[in-house]
Amino acid sequence: MRIKLLRYTKDGIRLIADSCRVSGIPPDLEDEEIVRMVVENDYSSVLEHISFTFDVSGISLALSRELLEHRIASHTARSTRYQEEGDFDYYLPKELERNKDAMEHFKMAIEAQRRAYIMLRSLGISRESRRYLLPMATHTNYVLTMNARSLINFLGLRLCVRASPEMRELARKIHSIVAEVYPVIFEGIGCRGVNMAVCPENEVRDSVQGRNCPYKIKGSKAYIPTKKEVRERKG
Ligand SMILES: Cc1cc2nc3c(=O)[nH]c(=O)nc-3n(C[C@H](O)[C@H](O)[C@H](O)COP(=O)(O)OP(=O)(O)OC[C@H]3O[C@@H](n4cnc5c(N)ncnc54)[C@H](O)[C@@H]3O)c2cc1C
Repeated sequence: MRIKLLRYTKDGIRLIADSCRVSGIPPDLEDEEIVRMVVENDYSSVLEHISFTFDVSGISLALSRELLEHRIASHTARSTRYQEEGDFDYYLPKELERNKDAMEHFKMAIEAQRRAYIMLRSLGISRESRRYLLPMATHTNYVLTMNARSLINFLGLRLCVRASPEMRELARKIHSIVAEVYPVIFEGIGCRGVNMAVCPENEVRDSVQGRNCPYKIKGSKAYIPTKKEVRERKG
């Protein structure tokens, strides 16, 4: 998986701060202080004024489907109708690395689909029809644009241990890019539990097999309470 930042709003901190000034805030506040206040207090509509465009390559068709669920974004995906896909690369789930037999079966199944895709070409069948033979693991390319508010929402959902491993890898890579560009906005951003200091996942965060949430260990410094716990404490 490769992520390249194609474009982003330059001078974004100034733009966000100036948008806040239109609304009316104390005149002595510096740009960065304003933006910090916006992020901390979730006055997020002003974050919509800045956006980021990423070139995302080498992700699976399965992941591209999940990505499309983020509606407050602009999406452009490589066409399987107009592109010949016979020599596709594909995603190998990390879990298979621990099981040689499973890995072999996985690869055999993919190669069988590839052979069928190519065979139907020689029978004169169009790409439009043959694409239904492409495995969900097939790599695709993607251009994705999100504004900063939507990006925080995306990271909150997809940095969570409950997101799929491939999606988490994408989220981590995007996060490291944007945290470098605008640390004042993104450095402190994590999963929703980190962002809100309370985890909305409640007990399901205990049921993620093999993927341990670093915030669920009671008594540890990193512990983040669940929403249920906070409610019960109040009651
Ligand atoms: C761990 C995990 C498991 C998931 N499992 C499934 C699953 O099994 N099946 C499945 O279909 N999806 C699943 N999803 C996807 C999830 O339901 C969301 O569709 C996806 O995460 C996009 O989130 P979003 O709606 O907040 O983002 P966006 O679509 O970008 O929306 C951003 C925000 O805008 C607002 N908004 C957007 N559209 C509307 C609207 N029409 N009406 C009102 N407010 C709106 C909401 O506040 C929303 O949070 C899963 C996600 C995660 C993280």
